[in-house]
Amino acid sequence: MGERFNICVLPGDGIGPEVMAEAKKVLARIGERFGVAFGCTEALIGGAAIDATGQALPAETLEAARAADAVLLAAVGGPKWEADPRAPRVEEGLFGIRKGLGLFANLRPVSTYDPLIDASPLKPELVRGADVMIVRELTGGLYFGKRDRLYDVPGAGPDGTPGQYAYDTMEYSEYEVERIVRMAFEIARGRRKRVHSIDKANALGVSRMWREVTRGIAAEYPDVEYRELLVDNAAMQLMLDPLQFDVIVSENTFGDILSDEAAVLCGSLGMLASASMGAGTALYEPVHGSAPDIAGRGIANPIAQILSVEMMLRYSCKMQEAADAIAQAVARVLDEGYRTADLADAATPADMILGTAAMGDKITEYL
Ligand code: NAD
Repeated sequence: MGERFNICVLPGDGIGPEVMAEAKKVLARIGERFGVAFGCTEALIGGAAIDATGQALPAETLEAARAADAVLLAAVGGPKWEADPRAPRVEEGLFGIRKGLGLFANLRPVSTYDPLIDASPLKPELVRGADVMIVRELTGGLYFGKRDRLYDVPGAGPDGTPGQYAYDTMEYSEYEVERIVRMAFEIARGRRKRVHSIDKANALGVSRMWREVTRGIAAEYPDVEYRELLVDNAAMQLMLDPLQFDVIVSENTFGDILSDEAAVLCGSLGMLASASMGAGTALYEPVHGSAPDIAGRGIANPIAQILSVEMMLRYSCKMQEAADAIAQAVARVLDEGYRTADLADAATPADMILGTAAMGDKITEYL
């Protein structure tokens, strides 16, 4: 055996453990084929961690993540942990690990696969060839600003009665904007050299600062074309003319929403992987959530989780050939007509619709 990588594996909740099992199959096969040892340390996060320890991110999990060469996360959450607003929230696990690892950048590539072009509800001629990299700021903004939820506040209820009052605050420091925008420009240099910065500068002071800082950085990259869009227009443009986009950079909340919207381009959330980067250990996860509506049925699409392994090999393990092999295996399976239920349509023959494990096996077979 040659090199060894220590991977912190966080299966989480719902379909998380189901899709993670397939990602581990792929990783084991890659290890065999490329003579690399992947040591996997499993830890708890989200609802599973709340049930076992009362906390969405136990200290041991963060320690294991910090000690690893990379973190592979599936998804967290489910109705079981959402009923009581005063109970610990599963999202604290996600936000906590992002903060704890200093992961300020979330990279979400969205591109179309020709065999799936009809899986998108958009017209094929509109989405064919779309290839967008969304660079979302991940540790600032609304999700991390000052917040509270108060009960029995005088006058906050209907007709002047006591009621609830809640607030979240969008906050950014100049350095937080600068480092994410710089990353977007660097990424654009390795792609088609165009950056769209998305904000809401007509309404938000934070966005006006974002725009000023971003213009300053854009001036340092004369070889990269720089464009600005208001987030409402950006949401529309992504559907009207997705081919105009190369790299999109945005603050946390807008990036969260736009990246799910962009998922429509490729037809299913089940296809999209992401990487979260900071100064230390990076984290790789699918864009989708824990899909409680299909959990336990063995029909979840494991491709986003498997493509998260691809990104992990590419960025953290520097195994480009292995990453390419995964991308090719996924493309081959789709070319041959195999689909999971979320990718299938009325024309898909029943015997080409695979469950989670069968899809994982098929991709592994082609590796
Ligand atoms: P979701 O992404 O879990 O599901 C949205 C829809 O897409 C569902 O119909 C689901 O069945 C489908 N889907 C998602 N992934 C799929 C896959 N791999 N294969 C096939 N179909 C798939 O989003 P949601 O329903 O809004 O949220 C469900 C739970 O997940 C909530 O508790 C939410 O808080 C949590 N969540 C977690 C993350 C995360 O862990 N990063 C992200 C988003 C949502």
